[in-house]
Amino acid sequence: MALIRETIIQAPSVNFDERRQPLSMLVLHYTGMQTGQAALGRMCDPEAKVAAHYMVEEDGRIFQLVDESKRAWHAGVGTWRGLDDINSRSIGIEIVNGGHDYGLPDFPEIQIDAVIALCRDVLSRHQILQSDIVGHSDIAPGRKDDPGEKFPWEKLAHAGIGLWPDESKKALSVGSVELLAEIGYGLNASPSDQEITCVIRAFQQRWMQDNVTGEPCLETLCRVAQIASIYRENTI
Ligand SMILES: [Zn+2]
Repeated sequence: MALIRETIIQAPSVNFDERRQPLSMLVLHYTGMQTGQAALGRMCDPEAKVAAHYMVEEDGRIFQLVDESKRAWHAGVGTWRGLDDINSRSIGIEIVNGGHDYGLPDFPEIQIDAVIALCRDVLSRHQILQSDIVGHSDIAPGRKDDPGEKFPWEKLAHAGIGLWPDESKKALSVGSVELLAEIGYGLNASPSDQEITCVIRAFQQRWMQDNVTGEPCLETLCRVAQIASIYRENTI
């Protein structure tokens, strides 16, 4: 579903200023209020000093509050990949959802379809890396919980918005091969499946004695990271 920009409802807010950094990120939020109307009212209230560029209602309607060229006040204090002033660097989209304070409701499909169309439209017009598409909680863990654990990140990733691992791939990631080599196992940069199975089996026989399968399952990969870290701390 392509976005028809003419269908976007204009709801101007004054809660923005000028960008101080180039635009390079997309930040997704939930509104965390009882209704979309309440959230829109708050974001258009000059006293509240908060606003996003867009808000997507539960029925799929899209509101634009702030021009994309401006610095909307949606992210607050946060960092991602070493960068701060996320407001200056990002486009913010508020997705109407009661969130943790209102029972963590599901996001309706029609709303997510609209979010996907809007994000794709934004990404088509701006240089935003897949690795710089984040949730509010990613940039402010502990302080923020949105868009929350009901938000369908995997569905968005399949639509080209954000990164998600290919669950069907069981092969060791490059990072895990490096960690096994760091522990001491003799693996070159691109080992064969058979070499991987042998090393994983040996690793499990030493560190996971109740799970000797030769399979690089998630539990094994976590264990590899854990063991590599104790080896790193004890290399005397
Ligand atoms: Zn937020």
